[in-house]
Amino acid sequence: MIFFSKTRNFIVNFNGFISNSKASKCIYYHDIHSDNKYTEMSTPVNIFIKHIETIRKRNFEIVSNINNQKNQIKICFDDGFKGLYENLDKLHLYKIPVQIFIITSLIDTPGYLTKSELVKLSKDEFVDVQSHTCNHHSLHALSESIIKQELEDSKNILEDICGKEISAICYPKGYFNSTIIRIAKEVGYKFQYSSIPGKYFDNLYHVVKRRSLVQFADEKYLINVLRGGDNILSHWYIFKHFKS
Ligand SMILES: [Zn+2]
Repeated sequence: MIFFSKTRNFIVNFNGFISNSKASKCIYYHDIHSDNKYTEMSTPVNIFIKHIETIRKRNFEIVSNINNQKNQIKICFDDGFKGLYENLDKLHLYKIPVQIFIITSLIDTPGYLTKSELVKLSKDEFVDVQSHTCNHHSLHALSESIIKQELEDSKNILEDICGKEISAICYPKGYFNSTIIRIAKEVGYKFQYSSIPGKYFDNLYHVVKRRSLVQFADEKYLINVLRGGDNILSHWYIFKHFKS
């Protein structure tokens, strides 16, 4: 697994040790599972709960909206797999607010959330449903009119299902550029989420939020992400994900 190679772990753990930041951060997963696993990217629910305990032990508050420079963590889930719905009781039990980014073309397909599950999730006080486009295409490879369609149609579909404003977009596979940022603003997204690590308030290109992938993190790695250890990888991710 390239993302969790020994070198990467070493860099993040070493940099976390020396930076020891308390800055608020957004972390993300793809799914959680108990009996039924819907994707190889899924995190066992018991490991996820251990992550929650580690985050709280280190005096970070888990929030739905970060409004403080320090000591807050926001948790996102990408793609809209079914495991999260099946483990909703855990979110309630441990009072864990999450934001989920849905690929609208996959609603009602095997392994993904159904429309009726999404309706329930959108009414849940711990879940904030948002958009991950219609088809999860790499947006930079598309024409401006198709980018607009991907962003606008998914927003409209989710607004119809959830009966609320959809205000955040998460870029499929992390790829974005200035055209995508502009079109997302034009179609009404107030928040844009990348897969580039860093401090929550250290926006890229003024509006783009940073996030850290922790779905396979062991305790040491997670602690060092919380300390800002993966911020050092930001430039490498920008090189990889920003497609000018
Ligand atoms: Zn995705």
